[in-house]
Amino acid sequence: MTNFSLAEDEKNSVSLALHGGLYITIHDLGHVYDILCNWPVDDVKAIVVTDGERILGLGDLGAYGMGIPIGKLSLYTACAGVQPRHCLPIMIDVGTNNESIRNDPVYIGLRQKRVQGEQYDQLIEEFMRAVVKRFGKNCLIQFEDFGNHNAFRLLERYRHKYCTFNDDIQGTAAVAVAGILASIKITHIPLKDNVFVFQGAGEASIGIAKLLIKAIIKSGRSEKEAYNQIYMVDSRGLIVKNRPKGGVTGEKVEFAKDHKPIDSLEDIISQIKPTAIIGAAAVPGAFTENILKTMGQMNKTPIIFALSNPTSKAECTAEQAYTATEGRAVFASGSPFKEVTYKNKTFHPGQGNNAYIFPGVALAVIAADIRDITEDVFLASAESLSNMVTQEHLDQGRVYPPLQDIRTVSLRLAKELIEYAYDQGLAHRYPRPKDVSKFLQEVVYETDYDSYVPAVYDWPDYTSLSKDVQ
Ligand code: NAD
Repeated sequence: MTNFSLAEDEKNSVSLALHGGLYITIHDLGHVYDILCNWPVDDVKAIVVTDGERILGLGDLGAYGMGIPIGKLSLYTACAGVQPRHCLPIMIDVGTNNESIRNDPVYIGLRQKRVQGEQYDQLIEEFMRAVVKRFGKNCLIQFEDFGNHNAFRLLERYRHKYCTFNDDIQGTAAVAVAGILASIKITHIPLKDNVFVFQGAGEASIGIAKLLIKAIIKSGRSEKEAYNQIYMVDSRGLIVKNRPKGGVTGEKVEFAKDHKPIDSLEDIISQIKPTAIIGAAAVPGAFTENILKTMGQMNKTPIIFALSNPTSKAECTAEQAYTATEGRAVFASGSPFKEVTYKNKTFHPGQGNNAYIFPGVALAVIAADIRDITEDVFLASAESLSNMVTQEHLDQGRVYPPLQDIRTVSLRLAKELIEYAYDQGLAHRYPRPKDVSKFLQEVVYETDYDSYVPAVYDWPDYTSLSKDVQ
């Protein structure tokens, strides 16, 4: 792309019309800043970047993964009214290990195996520095769909040095913890008395578990006690210390228990006796009828979250969960399930969609100039989202507000996060707006000029439910 300049009012339409973004390849080492300079808009405030290694549950799609940054940034605008001109999708192309894609005659990316190690890290480092040089240190960088082995270490490396977060780890965590906080308003078992078994110990599960630890500590437990409430299972069984089958490394280590090894999920659940099971291992049908029935026998209202995507990978369907537990399960999933009627009661399964969280977080970060997006920001997001679930929603089995209210939800989340950020000294935009709703109204992008209603003033009066069970 060549460098060209545009009139101000053309820039939004160009960002939308391009339907593309920037591709940076491993061969661009040493020139990343020059490539960023080719983007025709100067005031970029948010980048979503992927290297295409772990796209949804589909695996390594290489440069075909560009749809993810474009889609996520479209949701920034659609859900939270972030100006399209402020958004830049970026694909970092270091090759793909997917042979069929490399051999695809119309493949748009590099036809080589993934570059890893030092050269990969150099490219990411140069990219982060180049973003700051080109767009400023308050430009938000959202990492999306990186492989497990890079996602955690890049987050650790950059989280306090740049304005950045990883949606697969932190966004997922916030939406799932919000669902759990809403669930306990149905089960009436305080958070500190729940026991969780995670099927899967990857980006999603570890992210959720770590944020859950924070929430449990806030509810009155020590850190050690909080860890004792969380059991993790990976492809080699229950994660225990000195596991003969091995594989307890990296982020999993701190969750390893002093417990005898157990291989099968059914045995793990009948022995650990959890109040909640959370599936994020992309193993379809992992929550068997037996497991669901056992959960129903051990708990009055078992919490069952089948988070794996797409629908074909879900641990169980909504219908299976409600039927096996005689309509007593609190169920949420990663992909949407239709409502289920069981014995004359209709349940609306919750969809733990990350879109409840990341657009609102992004709007708050951009609008209030939050530079360090701490874990507490994600816990505050989870609490805010869970407080938008009304008694009426809970009565329908919902643990999230209806998805069609996403714009209202995102704007309210942004408002509450902005207030939180100013209270905590995390916001760098001064002076602090006197009226955050009015301030947001001035910054959000509104496409519907004719029937424009100030979105931030007509929020439903979501009742802040009693927090005594949290
Ligand atoms: P990941 O590759 O980082 O982790 C997968 C984990 O599953 C690994 O720990 C692996 O050991 C484990 N695993 C594999 N086979 C297993 C088996 N037979 N038994 C137990 N564990 C097994 O992937 P991820 O990013 O954690 O995503 C996992 C799933 O969660 C995907 O389907 C993804 O779409 C879904 N997800 C949902 C949401 C959401 O609902 N909002 C968000 C993020 C991810």
